[in-house]
Amino acid sequence: MIQIAGIPALVGTYDNYIWVLYDTSKRKAWVFDPGESAPVIDYLEAHKLHLEGILITHRHFDHVDGIPGLKQTYPDAIVYGPVKTQNPLIEKRLQEGDEIKLSDELSFKVLDTPGHTEDHISYYNEHALFCADTLFTGGCGRLLGGTPQEFAESLIKLRNLPDHLDFYCAHEYTEDNLRFAAYVDENNAALKKRIENLDIHYPQIHNGQVSTLGLEKETNPFLRFDQQPIKDKLKSQGSDDSAEMLFATLREWKDRIDQGLESID
Ligand SMILES: [Zn+2]
Repeated sequence: MIQIAGIPALVGTYDNYIWVLYDTSKRKAWVFDPGESAPVIDYLEAHKLHLEGILITHRHFDHVDGIPGLKQTYPDAIVYGPVKTQNPLIEKRLQEGDEIKLSDELSFKVLDTPGHTEDHISYYNEHALFCADTLFTGGCGRLLGGTPQEFAESLIKLRNLPDHLDFYCAHEYTEDNLRFAAYVDENNAALKKRIENLDIHYPQIHNGQVSTLGLEKETNPFLRFDQQPIKDKLKSQGSDDSAEMLFATLREWKDRIDQGLESID
């Protein structure tokens, strides 16, 4: 049986999760987006696991800087990553439509999800979605290389995946994201309930999923920008009806608040 744990990394600066997937009976493990190597090696050694593979979603340092350290300790671990990522450490290059079989029990399909960056991919199977900096719990990544149109299309692509998928993103920004979500979607009952029941223990190891895709569809404004009442608010800020403009307007709104140019309180 595959188990999943989120190892906190770059705590206090970027607050990443490095997701480790492991099979205790076979002592095998795979890791997503290692921004650091030391906490991953500590975890693998403590659980007597051997690293089989490293899966990368995009080029940013907080997702790849742990690769050299991991390869030094586990030289036979295969590094998977996007076709578009300019990183010579990537050995198997992936794009939408590809499928990777990591073991008898573990395989992933690949989706191109550009927007946060131009090279971003996401991985999913019948149980789980790993979408790194495309979609967060309650929020989404910033525009750092892709276009608003690409980002909107990527989010709609993720929204079309099944509700039951366990949801894994690469940063712990839930509280900040849900504060903004409540600001733009204040009458959303599912969102209110989510905020009341919020139970985050970062920077402890997180066992299991952080959310489900279904909960994100109900409560995350970045999957709801083309739905009421958020759509009306975005149009009153000058957006037209296009997904591209609605997304761009919502993302700019969150950026203004993050930069202190507008206050939520
Ligand atoms: Zn990133």
